[in-house]
Amino acid sequence: MKIKERGDSTGAESESSSVSTRPLRILMVAAEAAPFVKVGGLGDVIGTLPRRLVQLGLEVAVVLPYYPEVGTRGHRPLPTGREVVCSHGGISRRSPVLEEVLDGVRYWFIQEDDYFGREGVYGPPGGEYPDSAERFSYLGRTALEASKVMEFSPDVLHCHDWHASLTPLYLEEAGMGRVLKILTIHNLAYQGVFNIGVLPSLGLPPRVTEGPILFQDGNVNFLKAGIVSADRLTTVSPTYAAEIQTPDQGWGLDGILRHRKRDIYGILNGIDFDEWDPGSDPSLRVPFSAADIESRRRNRDYLLAQLGLHPGPQSPVFAFIGRLVHQKGADLIASVLPDLVRHEACIIVLGTGDPEIERSLKEISTPFNGKVSLTIGFDESLARRIYGGADFFLMPSRFEPCGLGQMIAMRYGSVPIVRATGGLKDTVKDLESDSEGTGIVFKDADPESLLAAAGRAAGIFRNGRLGEIIPRIMELDNSWLRSARRFARLYSEAARKEGK
Ligand code: ADP
Repeated sequence: MKIKERGDSTGAESESSSVSTRPLRILMVAAEAAPFVKVGGLGDVIGTLPRRLVQLGLEVAVVLPYYPEVGTRGHRPLPTGREVVCSHGGISRRSPVLEEVLDGVRYWFIQEDDYFGREGVYGPPGGEYPDSAERFSYLGRTALEASKVMEFSPDVLHCHDWHASLTPLYLEEAGMGRVLKILTIHNLAYQGVFNIGVLPSLGLPPRVTEGPILFQDGNVNFLKAGIVSADRLTTVSPTYAAEIQTPDQGWGLDGILRHRKRDIYGILNGIDFDEWDPGSDPSLRVPFSAADIESRRRNRDYLLAQLGLHPGPQSPVFAFIGRLVHQKGADLIASVLPDLVRHEACIIVLGTGDPEIERSLKEISTPFNGKVSLTIGFDESLARRIYGGADFFLMPSRFEPCGLGQMIAMRYGSVPIVRATGGLKDTVKDLESDSEGTGIVFKDADPESLLAAAGRAAGIFRNGRLGEIIPRIMELDNSWLRSARRFARLYSEAARKEGK
């Protein structure tokens, strides 16, 4: 296939003039996409990446299950009059295809209430539905049928996480064997592992079920099948791409990933610059920009007054926002809290998570009235005020595939203090080792290292360097448009190399 697409250069405007033939057509398959349905970070990615690809001139359709949540969130995709027909799980099914077009992206919903007409996306609270293998194999299988009935012939099939990982295995029977297959791994810890008893319910041909592709350690493993069958693999940061090839962070698939190492690409997620914009964020007391950090100071004052905090005049305000879990190093925050307060610093913590960590944070912070603010809960508006007012943003994660918090913090002028892992390592450059540094990076996940990093931060606060650092980090380009350009380039280069 010889298709020149518009996203393979720099600058969205200049790209629109270089079209020679039709744009690349991308078919994405995923279990969630904001604003229709969102459980976690995956929903954010599928909500934004397709729109940015369209902005670069590509054609994108996204196939999703039709869950009740779509309606709860105020969306009413329209019937297309088309349906997908197949026998799955021993039942002959006809599922209507619904459509909503958003910013040029065509979202197609497979309406099969038997599988998807349930309250939770993945299961009841804290659990998973027992027929997950059957549900998501149906998604993969019908995604291809949907693209056919919608007369969309894709050049690239882009699957996300284990839920969509079987889709490449249905291509041949769907008569779409020449399509380029890309799989993005957002979190390797979730693989879709099932007892081999599920095999007959997956609607796969004997060519697949009788071969080794589906199996790992005696189980059916959706993600493994995707890893083996995709032409290219991507994950959400270059460092995480390397980390998942090690036994330490490979969750049992590191050997298979090492085998495919030449086909693995680490492409950083971005943040939506329209959604995260201190110049227009209504949650902030005063809008501000890199050219006007004096206004940021007013947000800081307001935040401190609102939370009843009084840092010493020479002491910074540290913040942590996130899930209070071991992965995020929330326990380390609890350990260093008394020491930070002893140096007159203030600490703001916002999050929910592990009840044990919540309890210890409550206990430790109680005596430090006026120096520590702990909010157990999810509060987006408060989070925005914290990003726009704190001096330093703590992310002592033990592992972090990409991480959004540090990118939002930088956009809002809060200097990140991060552990050197995954996407944190890729997005924050240490101020000491790099004259264009953007934060403080430390190596070991222990209280001493975090405390030493906070000590360095206090030094920077005292010597007045923040005035120079804040505008610089606010102007970094961690936008989705940048990430989308990388995907556009990967699609076109891989299509050319694979002769598709
Ligand atoms: P995760 O692994 O949880 O997806 P990320 O850093 O990638 O971590 O993204 C976390 C996102 O969720 C950020 O936008 C952060 O601001 C937001 N967030 C996390 N916890 C809270 C909370 N308690 N209140 C408000 N926003 C939160």
